[in-house]
Amino acid sequence: MRNFLIAGNWKMNCGPAETRELLKGIKEQQGAMPDGVDGLVCPPAISLTAAADELQDITGIALGAQNVFYEDNGSFTGEVSTTMLNEVGCAYVILGHSERRQYFGESDTTVNAKVLKALDGGLRPVICVGESLKQRKADKQELNVRKQVQAALVDVEDGGATNLVIAYEPIWAIGTGESATPEQAQEMHEMIRSVLADLFDEDAADQVQIVYGGSMKPHNAEELLKQSDVDGGLIGGASLKADSFTDIIQIAE
Ligand code: PGA
Repeated sequence: MRNFLIAGNWKMNCGPAETRELLKGIKEQQGAMPDGVDGLVCPPAISLTAAADELQDITGIALGAQNVFYEDNGSFTGEVSTTMLNEVGCAYVILGHSERRQYFGESDTTVNAKVLKALDGGLRPVICVGESLKQRKADKQELNVRKQVQAALVDVEDGGATNLVIAYEPIWAIGTGESATPEQAQEMHEMIRSVLADLFDEDAADQVQIVYGGSMKPHNAEELLKQSDVDGGLIGGASLKADSFTDIIQIAE
């Protein structure tokens, strides 16, 4: 069966010094990762090297970036490439987070280009999808998320499917303290898995980790992680404290 993936999305928090401090705290509280749980931390790009250094003696916690560009190198001020992320030890990259869609104008097409580039560069994309409050109120969440998943995966070959992670993150739950209910999460995750089965096949769809994001905390993680199609969490706020992040790891165990 699928491992859980417990991933920290640190967003624009923690420069190199704070990154080292937070990872030292995680190391103190959580030696090795338990069997069946994959760990991941995604600090800002400037802190990736410091994080890679600290992670050397933590087994089972991988390193990820929060974004990547879809060109190899050249005149793209402010961007980083898959090769650069590989060089500093990243194995994953978060793509299409709703904050990037909202504040940095990322479209489904951009997200798709980045997904293809990440896979090509040997990085596992954590593709974020999720509906707004307005879409949920209009009962359009399935329609919207299905469209986002399909658009992100245009031209992804069958072989790439098993390297994908999908993060279902309802926008209304991000940073609000109000998470989706376990039932809402399960319903959406099951739907996403069926979209993956249509695009690839059932076997591949069964292997993809579909994680939940949006105010996942130690107090609600257990019920969310109990759902059969919820394979972990993409955790923002609660990943910035060693205690709450490691508490969630232990709940997944
Ligand atoms: P949150 O963020 O846990 O703070 O809601 C999750 C995310 O945006 O990935």
